Amino acid sequence: METKDKELLRGGQFLVKETKCEDVFTPEDFSEEQKMMKEAVMEFNEREIIAHKARFEAKDYAFTEEVMRKAGELGFLGVAVPEAYGGLDMGFVSTLLVCDYISSGTGSFSTAFGAHTGIGTMPITLYGTEEQKQKYVPKLATGEWFGAYCLTEPGAGSDANSGKTTATLSEDGKSYKINGQKMWISNAGFCRLMIVFARIENDKNITGFIVEYDKDNPNGITLGEEEHKLGIRASSTRQVFFNDTVVPVENMLAGRGEGFKIAMNALNVGRIKLAGACLDSQRRILTTAVQYANERKQFNTLIADFGAIKYKLAEMAASAYAGESATYRAAKNIEDRIALRVAAGNSHQEAELKGVEEYAIECSILKVAVSEDVQNCADEGIQIFGGMGFSEETPMEAAWRDARIARIYEGTNEINRMLSVGMLVKKAMKGHVDLLGPATKVQEELMGIPSFETPDYSELFSEEKEMIAKLKKVFLMVAGAAVQKFGPDLEEHQQLLIAASDILIEIYMAESVILRTEKNAKRFGEEAQAVQIAMAKLYLYNAVSIVEKNGKESIISFAEGDEQRMLLMGLKRFVKYTNYPDIVDLRIAIAEKVKAENKYCF
Ligand SMILES: Cc1cc2nc3c(=O)[nH]c(=O)nc-3n(C[C@H](O)[C@H](O)[C@H](O)COP(=O)(O)OP(=O)(O)OC[C@H]3O[C@@H](n4cnc5c(N)ncnc54)[C@H](O)[C@@H]3O)c2cc1C
Repeated sequence: METKDKELLRGGQFLVKETKCEDVFTPEDFSEEQKMMKEAVMEFNEREIIAHKARFEAKDYAFTEEVMRKAGELGFLGVAVPEAYGGLDMGFVSTLLVCDYISSGTGSFSTAFGAHTGIGTMPITLYGTEEQKQKYVPKLATGEWFGAYCLTEPGAGSDANSGKTTATLSEDGKSYKINGQKMWISNAGFCRLMIVFARIENDKNITGFIVEYDKDNPNGITLGEEEHKLGIRASSTRQVFFNDTVVPVENMLAGRGEGFKIAMNALNVGRIKLAGACLDSQRRILTTAVQYANERKQFNTLIADFGAIKYKLAEMAASAYAGESATYRAAKNIEDRIALRVAAGNSHQEAELKGVEEYAIECSILKVAVSEDVQNCADEGIQIFGGMGFSEETPMEAAWRDARIARIYEGTNEINRMLSVGMLVKKAMKGHVDLLGPATKVQEELMGIPSFETPDYSELFSEEKEMIAKLKKVFLMVAGAAVQKFGPDLEEHQQLLIAASDILIEIYMAESVILRTEKNAKRFGEEAQAVQIAMAKLYLYNAVSIVEKNGKESIISFAEGDEQRMLLMGLKRFVKYTNYPDIVDLRIAIAEKVKAENKYCF
């Protein structure tokens, strides 16, 4: 469907506007070109990564570099890069698709790939001058050079703008000297280019620089030893020291003091890509787990036939399916927004920057949700394997260890939770998303008498869609009351922000899974989508419980007396189903399908 034919919501507007199922993109909408790309990437993953899993686990850093080079030869490193700079310029959905299907073999490669193609390359494609792009991007897009991103310092992690690394202009004004220490730098061991953030004089904000790193002519750059990590063992992670490193002035990115903005925007893209990078891991974990459960017998019974194991298989499948639904929905929104801006006369660079920035809230939501889903999925994967799950001989323990980092880098999940709500409030204040109008309506509804009519729920998902609308009311009710109570001091109430963010996350994820399934049920038939329908209902049911818990805790924490009673009554009304789904039956139906197919099959 043409972008102009459908309504393209702004970032965050999903909360206050209804989205039609026809307007969401789903993995079932992949073009022929995208399907071919998916096949090629999956084949690469099997042949070059999974077949050599042991080498990654044995910390063979050189091997990670070798496979990265092969990925470059096949064009996978340049999917997002414009053709003019040696890339394939395949669009945002294809970029996500490659991140998704290339990442499940091992977190080591996935991290190297993400650090290079995302935060190592994107700052130049998004902010570089024409000369910078011509000079560096083709080398990065083809894998001739690898990139790293040097933001974090020993004293500056989440507080990324507080770094102490300095950049001092030379007397002749031709170069800067960089001095300082960075840590946790992915790809440091084999990169040829670093995006380095440093402070000039006493500037409020840091500045970004493109720094070449030639081991034979190190220019004051030295590396620490490889860090010994819980997971992603063959991903090179080192400290980087800069001692009078000379960087020509023309290698400054964007302008002086623009570094924090660059860092944040690079991370926005990185966050949705990281969500994508956690998807195929979930599929693979589930497939491996069900294959084991279909063979392992205890008490003369296949463990896949135990209700306790079915519970896990169903929950794992539903969360993977929801992650796909939400990630590709947002990816297409970004792609469409970029296309709209290009059509309106923006340069590709400007369009891409603004397109991703627009959906920064969704990028944070996805980063948190999918990184936690993959961790839970791996955890249950271990459990299904029992003692064998704890052994290095089965893939579950490495999957669990590798998944753990996703909650920490690209902004910790705590930071991303708070960011998602903070950005939404800012958007409302700028008038980009009208929260006040809908929040006032919810307040009026709370004062009014509830309708006792039973609506007609005969159409597929009619009750579920009404539930989503009610969950949105919970957010508006809770966040609206909290903003009224605390005003700008709300930022000091982190537990409230985190609770609000959990509500927001569940709304986006649950709505995405329902819209995808509704769209597919309309085109493929309800019968063909019976299990997907079950997964959508299960996901929503779980989301409602999470919303209820967070809403209740929040209301009790900041409201008292009549106000508390009114808000709690509102909450009760908004999380109430008219017809509760039989969740046990739904889980059985999902698990039976996964069991019969012996894999994640959606
Ligand atoms: C394997 C690995 C690879 C990495 N790769 C890179 C890379 O390539 N480039 C790069 O620049 N960095 C990289 N990082 C760094 C990573 O981005 C940081 O570790 C992350 O941002 C967290 O910073 P920190 O470790 O200093 O933790 P801290 O910021 O010290 O956080 C510690 C805890 O406090 C919480 N916290 C911090 N501030 C707040 C707050 N305001 N409110 C509430 N809670 C808060 C955090 O959520 C966390 O739970 C990597 C890290 C690892 C482990």
